[in-house]
Amino acid sequence: MRFVFDLDSVIRNLHERVIGFVPPIWDYTSSDGKNMWQLIEDNIESLVNSEPTSYYETIHRYSKIFPITIWTAQPITWRDSTEKWIKNHFSSEEIKDIQWLMPEEKYSTINKMSDCILVEDYPNFPEYNKIALVVFPYNWHINSCYAHIRNPKDMEALLFNNI
Ligand SMILES: [Mg+2]
Repeated sequence: MRFVFDLDSVIRNLHERVIGFVPPIWDYTSSDGKNMWQLIEDNIESLVNSEPTSYYETIHRYSKIFPITIWTAQPITWRDSTEKWIKNHFSSEEIKDIQWLMPEEKYSTINKMSDCILVEDYPNFPEYNKIALVVFPYNWHINSCYAHIRNPKDMEALLFNNI
């Protein structure tokens, strides 16, 4: 089995840098009515200076064996900064490809691929047969998926027990 990876909340801890915590719901808005997209726009350097997640170390180790593909939905104006973040955390040999894909595009693409699983936290796909779900409060309701990833040990088992 091979894997492709979402970036935000799977590898890059953008939420923590921008609002200081994991949002309880996907469509989070701040007390002054800003959504996540606007909050990131207000703190655009977070795209470069966010910390990695607790899953990064395991994924980074995997990327040294199998260079990884990242699928991430980033507006055009965020892409240079996001590439910079990725270059700061992976060598060029460790990254096979970066593709800018919206969730619907990720979903249709992964379902056309054989023997490949998407590691992702997005909560609104129609179904999750080919998704290893990185679990957060905003996606706790999804109980049927390829695998639930609740901690780095689960990520380790997913990536390295399937080699
Ligand atoms: Mg994500």
